Amino acid sequence: MTIKSYDIVIVGAGPAGLLAGLTLGHAGFNVAICGKLPKLAKESLDTRTAALFNDSIVMLDNLGIWSDLNNYCARIDAIRIVDDMKHLLRGPEMVFNANLLGLQALGWNVPNSKLVEHLSIANSNLDCCQLVLGTNVVSTKVENEEVIVKDSTGSTLRAKLLIAADGQHSIVRETTGLKAHKISYMQSALTTIFQHSRPHYNISSEFHRPGGPLTVVPLPGNKSSLVWVDTIGAIRKALLLNDDAFVAQLEKQLHGVLGGIKNLEVRHQFSLATLTANKLISNRTALIGEAGHAFPPIGAQGLNLSFRDVAILTEVLTHAGESGLDIGASGTLQQYQDHRAFDIRLRVWGIDALNRSLTSTWPGLHIIRSGLSYFVESVPSLKRMLMRAGFSGTTRVPELMRKL
Ligand SMILES: Cc1cc2nc3c(=O)[nH]c(=O)nc-3n(C[C@H](O)[C@H](O)[C@H](O)COP(=O)(O)OP(=O)(O)OC[C@H]3O[C@@H](n4cnc5c(N)ncnc54)[C@H](O)[C@@H]3O)c2cc1C
Repeated sequence: MTIKSYDIVIVGAGPAGLLAGLTLGHAGFNVAICGKLPKLAKESLDTRTAALFNDSIVMLDNLGIWSDLNNYCARIDAIRIVDDMKHLLRGPEMVFNANLLGLQALGWNVPNSKLVEHLSIANSNLDCCQLVLGTNVVSTKVENEEVIVKDSTGSTLRAKLLIAADGQHSIVRETTGLKAHKISYMQSALTTIFQHSRPHYNISSEFHRPGGPLTVVPLPGNKSSLVWVDTIGAIRKALLLNDDAFVAQLEKQLHGVLGGIKNLEVRHQFSLATLTANKLISNRTALIGEAGHAFPPIGAQGLNLSFRDVAILTEVLTHAGESGLDIGASGTLQQYQDHRAFDIRLRVWGIDALNRSLTSTWPGLHIIRSGLSYFVESVPSLKRMLMRAGFSGTTRVPELMRKL
C-alpha cells in the first residue's frame, strides 16, 4: 500500500477531469488524476462529438493541443434549425450564421475520443501531473486540513483539494453530502458517425421533432456526427435496426439534406436527465463537469460549460496559490461557486424549458414557439443577442479563454 501527497487530486479521467489536470498542471500545481481512460477499441469507441464554441477552442489552443487535435475536427459556420414537428403551423427555418456576430465560425465539432486521447497525452507529458490510471476512487474523507483519497488498489492519496470530475453519478458528490436536483426524461439519445454524398457546407442542422431534436454536426470531409434525441422506445427500436434499415430511416429524417448515407459507425445510446448540484463546493472539494451539472444534448452546452468550470477554478486556485492562501480553504472555493452558479443555473433552466416545449403535446405551446421563431427571425438585434447568450458565457471571459 502506497501513500502519496499532492496539491490536488482529481477523480475522473473524462474530458473535464483531464482538462483540469492539464490547466492546473500548467499552473504549477502537483496534481494526480484517478480514473480509467475510455476503451479505444473501434466497437466501443465513444461516437459522441462535442460542438465546442470559440472560447473553449481558444483554451485548447492556449494549452498547446489544438494544432494537432484540429485535424480531426470540422469548423461550424452556422446552425440551422428546422421545424419538423408535423404541426399545421410550421415555424420558419432559422439560421444562426457566425457572420451575424462578425465571426468566422461559431466553433468546431470535436470527437470526444480524440479530445480525451489528446488531453491524456498532454497530461502524461507534464512532470507535475500524475495519471493514476486504471483505478477507481472508493472513498474520500477530510482530516486535519487534508483530503484523504483511497483507490481500488488500496493506495492512499493525500491533497489539499479534491476535484470531483466523476460524472453524473459522482460518488464524491454523494460522499461529501452535496445534494443534486435531478429530472429524468422519458427520452434517450442515439449517437453515431457517418459519411454522406452531399457536402455539409460546415452547417450543423437541428431538426426539431415531437420526440426531441435530431442533429447532424459536420466532421472533416463529407462526414457528420449524429445526435438523435427521441422517446426511449423509438431509440431502442432504432438501435435494433440493421445498418441498411437504419440508414434508410436516417436519410428520410434528414429530408435529403446530406444526400445518400454510407459507412455508418457504431451506434451508442445515452439516457437523458437534467442534474444540478445544489452547491459546487463542500469541505475541501469542488465539483466540475457533469458531477455538477448535466442536461440533454440540445444547444451544445454541456462540455462548453465544463470548460468554463475548469477555466474559472484554475484562475481562482492560481490567484490563491500566488497569494500564499490555502487552495482548499472555504474562502477560496467560495469564489469558484460565486463565479459559476448563475451561468450553470441559467443553462440548466433554458435547456430544460426548450426540451419541454419541444416534447409538450399542448398545441398552444407550439403556436407560441412558432410565433417566437418568426419574431426572432424578423428582429436581427434580438437574434444576435440570443446567439451571444448561447455561444459564450454569461460572466467575464476567464483568462484561460483569452487568446495569448
Ligand atoms: C449525446 C450527447 C451529445 C453531446 N454533445 C455535446 C456538444 O455538442 N457540446 C457540448 O459542449 N457537450 C455535449 N455533450 C455533453 C458532453 O459530452 C459531456 O458534458 C461530457 O462528456 C462530460 O464529461 P465529464 O468529464 O464531466 O464526465 P464523464 O465523461 O462522465 O467522465 C467522468 C469520468 O469519471 C470516471 N469515474 C466515475 N466514477 C469514478 C470513480 N469512483 N473513480 C474514478 N473515476 C471515476 C468515469 O469512468 C468517467 O471516465 C453531449 C452529451 C451527450 C450525451
